[in-house]
Amino acid sequence: MARRTVVASKRLNLKLADAYRMLDNLEKFTCLKRDIAEINIDPLQRGGILTPAAREALIEWGDGYSVCDFCNGAIDQIKNPPIEEFVHEALPEFLGIDEVRVTHGAREGKYAAMHALCEKGDWVVMDGNAHYTTILAAERAGLNIEFVPSSGEPGYAISAEGYSDAIMRAYERKGNVSMAVLTYPDGSYGNLTDAKAVAEACHDNGIPLLLNGAYAVGRMPVNARDIGADIIVGSGHKSMAACGPVGLLGATEELARSIFRLSSTKKNKEVELLGCTVRGAPLLTMMASFPTVVERVKHWPEEVEKARLFSKRMEAMGIEQQGDKPHNHDLMFFKAENLYEISKTAKKGRFFLYRDLKERGICGIKPGLTRQFKLSTYQLPQEDLDKVIKAFEEIIESYKRPAKV
Ligand SMILES: *Cc1c(COP(=O)(O)O)cnc(C)c1O
Repeated sequence: MARRTVVASKRLNLKLADAYRMLDNLEKFTCLKRDIAEINIDPLQRGGILTPAAREALIEWGDGYSVCDFCNGAIDQIKNPPIEEFVHEALPEFLGIDEVRVTHGAREGKYAAMHALCEKGDWVVMDGNAHYTTILAAERAGLNIEFVPSSGEPGYAISAEGYSDAIMRAYERKGNVSMAVLTYPDGSYGNLTDAKAVAEACHDNGIPLLLNGAYAVGRMPVNARDIGADIIVGSGHKSMAACGPVGLLGATEELARSIFRLSSTKKNKEVELLGCTVRGAPLLTMMASFPTVVERVKHWPEEVEKARLFSKRMEAMGIEQQGDKPHNHDLMFFKAENLYEISKTAKKGRFFLYRDLKERGICGIKPGLTRQFKLSTYQLPQEDLDKVIKAFEEIIESYKRPAKV
């Protein structure tokens, strides 16, 4: 029996028979409205907004296994729709890597690579800013982790020497280090570490580098070959204007032989991908958005400029940006002691910021956060960013106590 059902019925103190009555009243599931404001600054969502073409593809290909009509057993070889060309020609060129496959997301790519290339009990070295999914992928693959510590507050920088040191520490424990991962950029501070230098440090020790480009691929130019990354993962729903779950996993020819090895019994099926990964709409939305994505990547310097200007204006209000400065990415982390102070006395306490921004047509900062939060300026017109800045200014102003006479 589903554990969830048991827990739910316990919590609600319902007998199982009562729980089944829920199935008599299901209308609420048929009309699902989304409550979002006009301007969404949630970093998770800025790069995953569908293009008009992707929105059409979503409807056109929404039926279950819609891509399987003309499949001969390997999803990446489907010619109609042109998945083969997308996966084997367009994506390798876009990422600068020999072989690419579509996955359900960045995390599934990381797990597949770790599972294929590392033995249980091996060590994987990763930056201290690594995403939780990298840690879970390693855990699921039975690996030990040695972290490369960041420099801490306020820059949280990661260095190439840190990688060499972490590799040495793992060796000192008699560990077999079989992979290194760099989060590029990390999902907390939006820091772009010198990936080339990290790749060199790893290669000096004979260790392949997996570049986690969940927040890079589809937003900014990333070329695995130029960087020297042996494996690269991307996230379609985060950064490639796809509905998801969908992502990318690329590898050098040599590593691809292990990662994308074929089943010994099931013809055409790649083991780490469990045969076929994304079997419908999410893949088609990623394809439909791809021309736009290729184009938008070229405009990355403008996105960086917008982010830097935004950061400057937030700092002028006493809200401090953490991480790389000047910043090189649209994802930014802010510390706001002034907003935290307001939350101590504001009506609704720490939820005031969420409410006050929402009233001004802005969402994306998690309800309850005031002291520190992340946001993204990606693909927002300057006019909208001006509105966001103005909203913060107004909010801070509105809580100022009248000056004593
Ligand atoms: C969002 C994110 C992920 C997870 O991506 P999925 O495609 O959802 O698996 C992994 N790493 C980083 C750095 C992220 O920001």
